[in-house]
Amino acid sequence: MPYSTAEQVHKLLVGARLRCPNCEQGRLFTGLFNMHATCPVCGVRFERASGESLGGMMVNLVVAELLTVGGFFLSYFALGSPLDMTPLIVFWLAFDVLFVLAFYRPARGLWVAVTYLTSGLTKDDDPGS
Ligand SMILES: [Zn+2]
Repeated sequence: MPYSTAEQVHKLLVGARLRCPNCEQGRLFTGLFNMHATCPVCGVRFERASGESLGGMMVNLVVAELLTVGGFFLSYFALGSPLDMTPLIVFWLAFDVLFVLAFYRPARGLWVAVTYLTSGLTKDDDPGS
């Protein structure tokens, strides 16, 4: 089923808010880093096969590295290209680690929404799943 751009953006935002993109009610996470296998409200399975979560981790790392490298160079040139880059490197490495941890759940939620939009999430007993 094709989705309009507005529907796609809406479903991505639902995922980023850590809600099931199918029913928009069920929570994706059971703890800080643990996801429910299925939606507690509508019952769709969030991950069909092991390894699907790699997409969410890839989103997380790509965004983190782009921000870290971009931020490093922006601050480096904004500070007049200082010879001692140690404080900048320490700051941006710490930013990178903290960002990866903080963005982990929204990135996983975004990836569940991408899965919903591309192949659909289905319940375990649905035919063709
Ligand atoms: Zn649901």
